[in-house]
Amino acid sequence: DNIEKDSELLYVIHVTAEMAPIAKVGGLGDVVTGLARACLLRGHKVDIMLPFYECIQKDDIQELSLMSTYSSYFDGNWIQTNAYSGLVSDIPVILIEPMNQFFKGEDVYGGSYNELEAYLFFSRACLEWMQVTGTQPDIIHVHEWQTGALPLLYWDMYCYLSLQKPRIVLTIHNMEHYGECRQEQLNKCGLDGSLYATIDKAIDDRTIGHNPERLSLLKGAIVYSNSVVTVSATYLNETLCSGWLASALLTNRDKYHGILNGIDTVMWNPASDVFLPANYHAHNTDGKKVCKQYLQRGLGLAFEGRVPLVVCISRLVAQKGLHLIKHAINHIEKHGGQMIVLGKAPDGRVQEEFEALAKLHNKGSTIRILLMYSEELSHMLYAGADMVLVPSIYEPCGLAQMIGMRYGSTSTTYANTKLLYGSFQVPIVRKTGGLADTVFDMDDQSQPEVANGRTLDRAFSYYKEKPIEWAHIVQKVMQIDNSWNKTASKYIDVYNSIRVRW
Ligand code: ADP
Repeated sequence: DNIEKDSELLYVIHVTAEMAPIAKVGGLGDVVTGLARACLLRGHKVDIMLPFYECIQKDDIQELSLMSTYSSYFDGNWIQTNAYSGLVSDIPVILIEPMNQFFKGEDVYGGSYNELEAYLFFSRACLEWMQVTGTQPDIIHVHEWQTGALPLLYWDMYCYLSLQKPRIVLTIHNMEHYGECRQEQLNKCGLDGSLYATIDKAIDDRTIGHNPERLSLLKGAIVYSNSVVTVSATYLNETLCSGWLASALLTNRDKYHGILNGIDTVMWNPASDVFLPANYHAHNTDGKKVCKQYLQRGLGLAFEGRVPLVVCISRLVAQKGLHLIKHAINHIEKHGGQMIVLGKAPDGRVQEEFEALAKLHNKGSTIRILLMYSEELSHMLYAGADMVLVPSIYEPCGLAQMIGMRYGSTSTTYANTKLLYGSFQVPIVRKTGGLADTVFDMDDQSQPEVANGRTLDRAFSYYKEKPIEWAHIVQKVMQIDNSWNKTASKYIDVYNSIRVRW
């Protein structure tokens, strides 16, 4: 990579609940890692601070070492806390480990501790670490509601102590996660919760009337951050038009930016991906055929003939279009395709529903429903697939379609090049109109039941009847640059616009 160094160099610390691949649940983890790497390559100094979840595999961290032990306030006590440093895929990390039950458990989320309290603790513990170690980054970059208390803690507490240099950027990855927090819960991190129950601080105008107890950490972070970014230009417009915090965002319009996410082309590179049985690139895609067969054989799917293989890799939550995923499973089975779903449902009922589907379909040789999280498998699926299905109801940015493209998995991803700029797949599919490889054409309101299928059929017949054209599309989408190299500079501009020169 011949990336030019920026002339003015910054020190950025990300404070986040997720980081790929060591603590990843969805796109947040990918974004943090990818953006951090892109900034490092441009010459900036970057650290990523995240909780030392019990589920993090220590072997995945290079040069892991205990850096400092300190105490951080929580709920009337000072909690003994360890800060470890290390490298993850060449990116410096600082892992915060409190000596209590927080962040224990098998998964990143859903442990038996109180999640909100744990992240309130974490938000303060990161500032406390900067304070005790005299670390003053130019930018503290927080993400989502989990770290939403940090801007409040910074501007109302730590900047009166010794931290003065940092300015704060918030990225909102998904407005749905509002960060509901009662006043007395906010008290636990040392702030006076009652002071934040106003519209110009951490309460939304929609809730103040009937529930003034209920604060939103995301709202507080919007108000208190120097800059707020969301993950695509269209999502920015959508969030200004409707939804919980629309008026807060409108009030703060001047500091609110839409910057499209990129993908981390080091993590996601079919030419060097260690998880693949064969590597390939746009100019020679033979390896992709090997990947497909390997996947089919490995999962016990039929592997004779030219059969389109569709994959769907997604958190199984309503936003992702669960009914459309289910519909696709049946439809693909009926129409001579193969499908692999890789997903995990945080909601027990959804998980059960998909378990029942798995029981029903996994016996045959066309459908596999794999209800788990597996980074390794996800790489193999993107590589082996002919089409990636992303039937989201709304999608702030969406990475699956971009990763799919990079791995030459076309169909839906091909249509979804438009999705990058929009969150609703339905109107986007309408815009791309007759594209042969549009999967969910919901345009035809008169026949909602068959609407999905028709476009899927069209993709399937295109795949079967026009192998040469299909191969060209594969090469074409593989060459589309959706990398952070393209968009990281926009973040740097935001950082530069608010930094303080000392
Ligand atoms: P979101 O952030 O809403 O989950 P994105 O499309 O932005 O959606 O990012 C999803 C990321 O999570 C992608 O990298 C995708 O491959 C990954 N992912 C989702 N579910 C799984 C799973 N069960 N196993 C492995 N990776 C997954």
